[in-house]
Amino acid sequence: MNFLEERIVKDGIVKEGNVLKVDSFLNHQMDIALFEQMGEEFKKRFEGCNINKILTIEASGIGIACIVAKYFNAPVVFAKKSKSINIEGEMYCADVESFTHKNVNQVIVSKKFLGPEDHVLIIDDFLANGCALQGLISIVNQAGGTVEGIGIAIEKGFQVGGRIIRNLGIKLESLAIVDGMDAATGTITFREQ
Ligand code: 5GP
Repeated sequence: MNFLEERIVKDGIVKEGNVLKVDSFLNHQMDIALFEQMGEEFKKRFEGCNINKILTIEASGIGIACIVAKYFNAPVVFAKKSKSINIEGEMYCADVESFTHKNVNQVIVSKKFLGPEDHVLIIDDFLANGCALQGLISIVNQAGGTVEGIGIAIEKGFQVGGRIIRNLGIKLESLAIVDGMDAATGTITFREQ
């Protein structure tokens, strides 16, 4: 097991409905020493990729993205969830269905902060059905930029997102891939990487 898998086993809680709770170290209280390890690992996995910008989505991707960004010496842009309607023109927009909240958010990025010159590493905490990532990929495409790769902390490998994104031919690196989890026993099975 790698450092993140060990931490998930130690502090993660399996909930009903295929939800893994990791709020004691990843997306509510945040363990910055762990994030540093993640940043170092992503730097290794994306070695040689020409990355000048990190893109994530609010809220829980932001903390991880900021630490990862240090390792790539690049700024972080985060897509904002927005209810506003009349913003076309200045913003790239995409609709994202939330796995955890079961609603659809419009996410926006200002055209000032993403353009054809950008080589983007997308970072997020979880990959489930892939809706958040597809929204972010669409935003990079609208900007005429290049998605160099995607780095995810925890992929739930039993949901469809990983397959959809890899089928697009994008380099996707997940630090932990959960292939199964059982809310009754709390057991978590990881994919060998
Ligand atoms: P997707 O768009 O891939 O279906 O879901 C990704 C988003 O849903 C992530 O950004 C994350 O915030 C949230 N999410 C999905 N599955 C889980 C989960 O099992 N636990 C937690 N804490 N968040 C999740």
